[in-house]
Amino acid sequence: MVKICCIGAGYVGGPTMAMIALKCPDIQVVVVDISKPRIAAWNSADLPIYEPGLDEVVKACRDKNLFFSTDVEKHVAEADIVFVSVNTPTKTRGLGAGKAADLTYWESAARMIADVSKSDKIVVEKSTVPVKTAEAIEKILTHNNDKGINFQILSNPEFLAEGTAIEDLAKPDRVLIGGRETPGGRKAVEALKAVYAHWVPEDRILTTNLWSAELSKLAANAFLAQRISSINAMSALCESTGANVSEVAYAVGKDSRIGPKFLNASVGFGGSCFQKDILNLVYICECNGLPEVAHYWKQVVQINDYQKTRFVKRVVSSMFNTVSGKKIAILGFAFKKDTGDTRETPAIDVCHGLLGDKALLSIYDPQVTEDQMKRDLAMNKFDWDHPQHLQPQSPTAFKQVSVVWDAYEATKDAHAVCIITEWDEFKKLDYQRIYDNMQKPAFIFDGRNVLGVEALRKIGFVVYSIGKPLDP
Ligand code: NAD
Repeated sequence: MVKICCIGAGYVGGPTMAMIALKCPDIQVVVVDISKPRIAAWNSADLPIYEPGLDEVVKACRDKNLFFSTDVEKHVAEADIVFVSVNTPTKTRGLGAGKAADLTYWESAARMIADVSKSDKIVVEKSTVPVKTAEAIEKILTHNNDKGINFQILSNPEFLAEGTAIEDLAKPDRVLIGGRETPGGRKAVEALKAVYAHWVPEDRILTTNLWSAELSKLAANAFLAQRISSINAMSALCESTGANVSEVAYAVGKDSRIGPKFLNASVGFGGSCFQKDILNLVYICECNGLPEVAHYWKQVVQINDYQKTRFVKRVVSSMFNTVSGKKIAILGFAFKKDTGDTRETPAIDVCHGLLGDKALLSIYDPQVTEDQMKRDLAMNKFDWDHPQHLQPQSPTAFKQVSVVWDAYEATKDAHAVCIITEWDEFKKLDYQRIYDNMQKPAFIFDGRNVLGVEALRKIGFVVYSIGKPLDP
């Protein structure tokens, strides 16, 4: 029986390994992590991450051919294939701070693999890493290996999106495997291909050289984020000219060279990957003597920051230039619907902006805990041009924040409602009831363009949507 071990039981390691276990009953999969609470949660009825369909997949194979453990070294030593899916956040200090990927976790995992291994292994980069990381990992593995073990490094970046992870894993657009163009490298690629071939059609399994696979992941995230920043940039122009961004996106997306997906204007993108990976790309370009290319991609992140700031300015200016002492309901805190993940969520910047203007915030999200929100709000936004200015924010602003477990409670007596996450339940709320219980004039700022503007205006709301004609 082939044995797989995955280091890192996070948003990627957990679901990807659960899918492999589900589709490959002949393979034993062990997911290991240094975090005891995380592993305990994976072994309980209350999984550590919310993802539609994940509970069922885990239930179907846990303790059969899927295991979660903190005994990292034992399971790495026993595995034939070791996936590494640890976090690769943006460096917060030192060389490249604010842009470069922090590979501390990756390097310590690689050193541990070298230390504990007693047999040949395929080591798979599942984390998103800078192009050329495999070369560094090879050096670490071979320099720390006097046992004659053969390590083959593969790049197999993950393209799942949170909120649709199970669907994406079950029917991926493509699986990408990069390996060395040597007999050993080719053999390793074939071994990993054989795992995915249990359920992924052959024409969707792409094989490339190592550097193409590593760079493709950064490029894919940069292109996706670029589409959002492009339509968000258009949304600002729509508001100034009377054009409607939904109509523009529809017309533009009908061109088959462009396509309709990922063209929704919004308060801005969030999540742990887009900003981090573009900044990483920017840093790599700078290190390779390509400042113009770095500048080009940097704009994608800067337009995103601009969009979040624009949203806050619109809220404050619409409410007679002050939100001081006014209750504002924040509906949604996760960075997108169907996940409880709040990493880089635009909610943080919007809340910071409104708190700075002394608003009283009442926040509701169906999947995010109060502790998580407060932890996020206590963090200062990272200023990547001035990383030395990074200071933890004092939590005094928390007196202005209350977290509630119901959208009606959040909106009661509020002056305004801000939709920050596109949760389906927000579309189905009784807005007449909400209006009746709010201060007047009652404002709605729809940061996701998910509500029916006409119906809301009929009720009496003053409505602002992104890139749409303003309330007459
Ligand atoms: P995560 O923070 O949820 O999980 C990483 C886990 O690795 C944590 O539980 C941590 O405790 C564990 N870990 C760190 N060092 C370890 C070590 N030495 N030994 C054992 N465990 C260790 O991160 P994530 O969201 O799953 O992302 C993982 C990687 O996948 C990142 O590189 C990310 O960029 C990439 N990625 C993420 C997504 C996404 O949607 N989240 C999608 C595609 C790719």
